[in-house]
Amino acid sequence: MPVIMDSSPGRQNEIWGKDVFPLLSWFKIDKVKNAKVMVVGAGALGNEALKNLALFGVGNIIVVDFDQIEYSNLTRSILFRPEDADKGLYKAEVAAKRVREINPTVNIQAICGDLSTGVGLGVYRRADVVIGCLDSLIARVLLNRQCFRAGKIWIEGGIGDLEGQVTGYQYGKNCYECSLSEEEEADIKARLSCPGIARENEKSGRVATTPVSASIIAAIQVQEAMKIIHREETEGGAFTTLVGDIFHYEGAHPNASTFEFTSYHPDCLSHEYWENVVEIRELSADTPVSECLEIIRERLNVKTVEINLRNDKFVDKIVSRSDNKKFLPMLPESKIPDYIEASEELYYLSAADGGLYQNTFENIDEEFPYPDLTLHQIGIPYFDILQVTTEKGYAYVELSKDKERYSIFL
Ligand SMILES: [Zn+2]
Repeated sequence: MPVIMDSSPGRQNEIWGKDVFPLLSWFKIDKVKNAKVMVVGAGALGNEALKNLALFGVGNIIVVDFDQIEYSNLTRSILFRPEDADKGLYKAEVAAKRVREINPTVNIQAICGDLSTGVGLGVYRRADVVIGCLDSLIARVLLNRQCFRAGKIWIEGGIGDLEGQVTGYQYGKNCYECSLSEEEEADIKARLSCPGIARENEKSGRVATTPVSASIIAAIQVQEAMKIIHREETEGGAFTTLVGDIFHYEGAHPNASTFEFTSYHPDCLSHEYWENVVEIRELSADTPVSECLEIIRERLNVKTVEINLRNDKFVDKIVSRSDNKKFLPMLPESKIPDYIEASEELYYLSAADGGLYQNTFENIDEEFPYPDLTLHQIGIPYFDILQVTTEKGYAYVELSKDKERYSIFL
């Protein structure tokens, strides 16, 4: 007589509701259930990392990816199905849905957006650890900067053919950007000066991967994340982490080794830690600029406030040098290449004599000519942390009203 298993969410809740790994002496169910892990990238590595986090029963997960599922993803993405590619669904949303199917006790939220301009720094700040599952250099540099600003360790994974590696990066210890070769660094600088190209690069950053390499490397990444979640056990000497070390796996002639990997140059621009963040509950990315400046002035008790647009600038005007014709995009700089491409006239003028001139704002203060625009319209993501310059120096303020948009932090 076959035994009919009850696979209802209630039953699964019971499975992960108790101590799931009673035989592991280090495994602390409360820490794991309360942990907040951010997974950036829902491709081959991201799929595998999310699967392992779900099996461990990690309580709160944020998954970030701006891309949609394509047929080519299906050979190495355990969480995606052919129907998802038929419909061109978003990777992050589908991955979140499948994680809930595997383990309904996991509170997972998807963010379908760019990692630097679509995800506020408040999200990073509230994560215990960030897992980087990216396939482009530029995206890794941006993630490194954001994690440093938020003071979070990020576990970077990379795969290529039958090999892969894992490293942990931490502000004050070792830096992804500092580990780049001179050639890679020059490439990054050129790309960072043109956000449109950066996005294209993120879209097309395809490397040869296999489902096996992704499984192995993402598994090591999750194991590292579990060590950071079990901070006391790790500090007590039960584990050594890969912060400042690199784990390298070679599959063609099987070998795995770990060696020291610390690069930290004093003149690197990535080394910023945004301390003493002031949480302002009245502030949201939907707050108009004028109101925002006033609230910050009052709250910080200062006379002058200038918001520094650190991740994306704002463009109000594009002028053709050949005939002085004006266009008013009113968009973040990263959206300008798409804006130009969408207009036949602009596209033509961009190639004409003298090309185009754009008027760009790097800071927002009282002189900003569009005080009624919201922060979001200028390109600031929800739940972001603003770097502001005051007469007393730099200060950091969080758009804390936006916390309500993130169920995992409530
Ligand atoms: Zn650096």
